[in-house]
Amino acid sequence: MDYQKIIEDIYRQIQPLKELGKQADYIPALAKVNPNQIGVCLKTMNGEEYSIGNSDVRFSIQSISKVFSLAVSLCLEGDNLWKRMGKEPSGNAFNSLFQLELEKGIPRNPMINAGAIVMADILLSHLPNPESDFIDFVRCIAKNETVNYNFSVARSERTCGYLNAAIANLLKYNNNIDNDIEQVLQFYFLMCSIEMNCKELSQAFLCFADHNNEFNFKDIHLTSSQVKRINAIMQTCGFYDESGEFSYLVGLPGKSGVGGGISAVYPQRYAVTVWSPRLNEKGNSVIGMKFLELLTTETKESIF
Ligand code: GLU
Repeated sequence: MDYQKIIEDIYRQIQPLKELGKQADYIPALAKVNPNQIGVCLKTMNGEEYSIGNSDVRFSIQSISKVFSLAVSLCLEGDNLWKRMGKEPSGNAFNSLFQLELEKGIPRNPMINAGAIVMADILLSHLPNPESDFIDFVRCIAKNETVNYNFSVARSERTCGYLNAAIANLLKYNNNIDNDIEQVLQFYFLMCSIEMNCKELSQAFLCFADHNNEFNFKDIHLTSSQVKRINAIMQTCGFYDESGEFSYLVGLPGKSGVGGGISAVYPQRYAVTVWSPRLNEKGNSVIGMKFLELLTTETKESIF
């Protein structure tokens, strides 16, 4: 398969869409990003790399970090994780409060904010040095020691993170947070603030593309069955209230973030990341969705 030619063709085809959508501005730091950027990188399991556009520019990975915190939380908690959250799509906005109230503080799944805030609590309780242990894990799977948090983005989000604070309070009220709420929120925002480029994200997601093998990175060990299950959660819950649509159009497990990134895997073959900041009204990158739809249509490679 000539992936380089395919991504170049698709890159040309999506140009007319590049002004559609609007970048996230509810986090002040994201509003400053130049929205006219598009990066793509596809990395195969046997070490080939294909890229185009702004694939070296780092961006705020935001909710894509939820896949990394799920990997670490599953390693730490095993199936006990599911006592504190569910694994069903929410059918609601990623920061919705009312479902959490109805369901008595048990988040629907790990990919919405409530689930990720509980995972931040779990990591704080179990990791000896949560901040450095978590970024070390991400550096390790991305094979890049310079990947880092952006502390000012995290602070900027904390200053206006009223809804996430409400979610954390509701979780605490329902005894689903053990640590101090402020500490949990700060760690959650910090994980969201990690900056990576398309190449680094695709490298990191290759770990999830291979679920024939155990997952061993530093002290994080996941069974092949847990890796398979991370893919299942990405497939059913990875795209906000548009997970069904992404599954229908693209047919790959993946995760999006409000920074405009989408990482997806074609199991046993490759990981691919597309980044473009303009989002549709569900919060997914317009170009990212279209690019991946065309990729799986063109290559006829999807899990279906
Ligand atoms: N930090 C963002 C928030 O909590 C993450 C949202 C996202 O990327 O889905 O609102």
